[in-house]
Amino acid sequence: PTRSPLPVKTFTVKPFLFRLLRPLPMPVIAILIGLLTGLAVWAVLDQVQGRMISKIANRELKTQLSLRSREGLIRFDRYVASYAATTRLLANHRRLAEHLDPIVWLPNEPFETRLYRDAKPAWLADSFARYELPTPSHILLLDGTGALREVYESRGQPLPGELTDKIRRQLTWPDGMRPLLVAVGGLPYLVIGDLIEDSEGFPMGTLVLAVPVDADFLTAAQQVIWPERVLVALVTGSTQRIVTSVDPETLPPGTHLKTWRRDYLITSQPLSQQETGGWDLHFTTFVSHASVDRMARHMRTFEWRQRGLTALIFILVFTAVIYLVSARLNRILKRMSRFAHRALGIAQPGFQRGNNQLLLLEDWIQQFTQLVLKARQELSRHYEHEMRETEALKAAIMEASLDSIVTIDGRGRIVDCNPTAERAFGLRRDRDIGQPFAVRSVAASDLPLFDGLLAESHRAQREGREPHVRGELAALRHDGTTMPVELSIVPIEVDDGTFYTLYMHDITERLEAEREIKSLARIANESPNPILRVAEAGRLVFANRASRPLLEAWGCAVGDRLPADWVAEVDQALVDGETHERETVLAGQVYALLFTPIRELGYVNIYGRDITAVRRAEQEARQHQAELVHVCRLSTLGEVATGMAHELNQPLSAIANFANGASRRLQGDLIEPQPLIQAMGQITTQAERASEIIRRLRALVAKQPPIRSAADLNAMVREVCSFVEFDVERLGIALHLEMAPGRILVNVDLVQIEQVLLNLVRNALDALADMPAAERRIAIRTRVTPDEAEVEIEDNGPGIEPTQMRRLFEPFYTTKDSGMGMGLPISRTILDDHDGRIWAESQPGAGTTFHVVLPVIATAERTTDSAT
Ligand code: ADP
Repeated sequence: PTRSPLPVKTFTVKPFLFRLLRPLPMPVIAILIGLLTGLAVWAVLDQVQGRMISKIANRELKTQLSLRSREGLIRFDRYVASYAATTRLLANHRRLAEHLDPIVWLPNEPFETRLYRDAKPAWLADSFARYELPTPSHILLLDGTGALREVYESRGQPLPGELTDKIRRQLTWPDGMRPLLVAVGGLPYLVIGDLIEDSEGFPMGTLVLAVPVDADFLTAAQQVIWPERVLVALVTGSTQRIVTSVDPETLPPGTHLKTWRRDYLITSQPLSQQETGGWDLHFTTFVSHASVDRMARHMRTFEWRQRGLTALIFILVFTAVIYLVSARLNRILKRMSRFAHRALGIAQPGFQRGNNQLLLLEDWIQQFTQLVLKARQELSRHYEHEMRETEALKAAIMEASLDSIVTIDGRGRIVDCNPTAERAFGLRRDRDIGQPFAVRSVAASDLPLFDGLLAESHRAQREGREPHVRGELAALRHDGTTMPVELSIVPIEVDDGTFYTLYMHDITERLEAEREIKSLARIANESPNPILRVAEAGRLVFANRASRPLLEAWGCAVGDRLPADWVAEVDQALVDGETHERETVLAGQVYALLFTPIRELGYVNIYGRDITAVRRAEQEARQHQAELVHVCRLSTLGEVATGMAHELNQPLSAIANFANGASRRLQGDLIEPQPLIQAMGQITTQAERASEIIRRLRALVAKQPPIRSAADLNAMVREVCSFVEFDVERLGIALHLEMAPGRILVNVDLVQIEQVLLNLVRNALDALADMPAAERRIAIRTRVTPDEAEVEIEDNGPGIEPTQMRRLFEPFYTTKDSGMGMGLPISRTILDDHDGRIWAESQPGAGTTFHVVLPVIATAERTTDSAT
């Protein structure tokens, strides 16, 4: 992927902000954004929260005030209740009982109300002081009829008559003993009565307490120090005027409530009817506005503190969240950029400590996104291109295929075919699509086979096996001729069902080639000579008919192993990689076996040849040759015999002489043993000499079978010289022998080689016959090299003309009257037979040299023998 330049236009929207933030370190940006976000959120929420809080504060204030007012009323009620309890206590007090016990109040008898003013009556217990209650202004004792019998004026004030009336009237109420507020001269009095009973429960009288509800009463009732000044008062409901107040100086009785509303927040609660006996009195609390304001201020401070705390929490939370999110984002983006760098080759953004990576990343992400998009487009383009190419390639392959390709549907109708199929079956794509294929293009006899292959392919595919099925069948060309094809079926499963692609390869040529190969194979089989093929380890893989005698002799058949020594031969051929021949005699027949290795296949082909006849002919030829040599010898014998007979004459005459001499000595009585013994010795010596000459003669004549053996060439030369000794002497020839030292061992037929040498020496003698006797010379030399031994026979005779030279070795060529012309041709045959050579060199008028060369036996052997 290529890297496109950074898109610069994205900077135009926010260049200022970007320039401002870019150099700031990441955490600072996060904190700033957190701060701003926190503030913004707080500002929005504070609108709502502020309203809520002030509403709550107001409600709270109201609640506070109403609570205070109610609390005041409760205290007032409780205070009243404590008086009621004390009254009950006093009414049942022992002292009062003791006081009343002796007194009997008669209803109609006149009496004087007993008045206590200065001293507290004895029947009054100290209960008020004990309960910290101010002593009531008046304490009354009434008899059963309600007549006032005794009265205690604790504060020295006379009992108002109005009060007495009201008390007496109250006692007539059904529940007259309950505390009651009564108005006496405009001032409310608390009146509480209780029944006094004797020990039997008989009513003796009534105790009644009267307490003026004045400032002292109210103060004592409240008994609480409010945080701000709260005043209480009793107000007449209908007139809205103060009846009595806790502070008569500030709130003088008789004043209208209206007067006070400006300075105070006023809360009124009606006292119960039972308590007041129909007087509509209200318990009213006064809280000065100043103190309400103080409370409100107090609330506001609290409210501000709350809001400030909320703002702080918002800012902190948002800052932390944004910082964490940005750090996390940063990490993710870094990882992403690393990945992009690796995958798409996009340069990583220049992350540096202290730079705002988030902003850098933003631009980088834009670039990244563009590149990814581009890469995706490119990839899909590439993919499409590849698809198209593949399609084109497939089509081209199909078009160019030398095989006929036909696609048929599940019912055997042609769906598509390639040009080769069109040509082979005379199909036309524009005409034959939809036509049945098999009926027109498969030979009728092979239709079942075709259907079977289709079914097999379909079955194989269904069972999840390899669905490619192959078979060979005869197809019908458009001209009606058949064409052998190899059919391969590939089923294709598509939504519409199963289709089959048929690949048909024309195998006419292949079948012909196979036939050709088969016929070629018959050549080997029909060959009259044995042909075998052996694999590695000597396993026989093929043997033709002619090999039967060989196999019988070896006792093996195709598939078996050859006998061990032949296996070794086969292995050797494979190792060397060279053809070699070996002869063998099997069942009286001689075979030459040629081992031809085919190393790349690990085979060795053995080509046998029955050479029994050849070998027999050779044998016979050798026999003939031996006989010829013999004839030759005999002819030579004729010539040599004269000399030898002459030579034999010498020892015989010597023997005769010595024998005569000895007999003469014996006849003349000169019997001296010493001379006789000497003569006898001479006779023996001469006889041995004669016998030696005769042995040679016999050897020359004897008919010996051709036998090869190791023989010394030097010894042979000497033996031949001895044969012609007589003639040499007779002709006065200077015979010069120049022999290589030691023995020269050659593997030869001794008689034959001697015959060759004798022939050559005799020819030399013949050539010298016409020379002046003093000039006749023959030189015989032997020479040896590591491989060869050579004998050279040189004469200084007339030599041989070049024209004669060419005919020298022709049979029956001779220039001599008694010559046979067979010496040299036989010599050449013998030397050929010994792997040797013979040739002549001649200078007419100067002499002739004949050379004979033979292979020698190993040098080591020769040198050890040379000592003897
Ligand atoms: P033959 O000796 O019976 O003639 P050869 O085959 O031995 O048969 O010799 C053939 C001929 O070669 C001889 O007749 C002779 O003319 C010639 N020839 C052989 N050896 C010599 C020699 N050393 N010098 C000259 N001529 C030779």
